[in-house]
Amino acid sequence: MNTCDLCEHIYYDQLAHVLCECEVSSSLRHSYFDQIDTALGNDVKHQLESMDSIDMSLRMLGAPIEPILGVRENNVFLKLSYIFIVKCIRYCL
Ligand SMILES: [Zn+2]
Repeated sequence: MNTCDLCEHIYYDQLAHVLCECEVSSSLRHSYFDQIDTALGNDVKHQLESMDSIDMSLRMLGAPIEPILGVRENNVFLKLSYIFIVKCIRYCL
């Protein structure tokens, strides 16, 4: 366990914390989930939001963890995730 230098919450994994939990990245995360909602629909957005931080981070990086999307949807998801990850790394790390 470590403490985040940005928001002072305790985290298990730094990347998962910054991507899925950190208060400092919350506006980026909100924008990312809005884009997911627009591109892939509300059901997919809610499925992704319900995942735990580690699974969601792995999913953003391309691991085949539920929810399983179609090829087109998965490519859109990975593209949006890549843009979000790069923004988070630039902004937070
Ligand atoms: Zn934090």
